[in-house]
Amino acid sequence: MVDNDGYTRCEVCELRYEPGEPADEWLAVTVERDGGHATPDFCSQEHAAQWFSESLPSFEPVTIMKPTLRDRLTDIGVALPFGAVAVLAAIGLWTAIGWIWR
Ligand SMILES: [Zn+2]
Repeated sequence: MVDNDGYTRCEVCELRYEPGEPADEWLAVTVERDGGHATPDFCSQEHAAQWFSESLPSFEPVTIMKPTLRDRLTDIGVALPFGAVAVLAAIGLWTAIGWIWR
């Protein structure tokens, strides 16, 4: 779990993971059930096993975002420059090949 300060905490003992410290023992898992999911973190495999041995909490349902017209326009706005670069690169390559074989 991530607390209000943005730190990762063990789901069982609430030990805080300090950024920069070795994370060898830490586990981050994703659990899915019936359309919902949870992403708990654990300081050790023992605490993960303890959490899984108890009844699982209710999971937050996964919300599927429907793209809006604004999202579609943004996609097109991002894709167009890439398409233009690809076309210009092809023209440049064609020109270079024609210049070499002249
Ligand atoms: Zn723990």
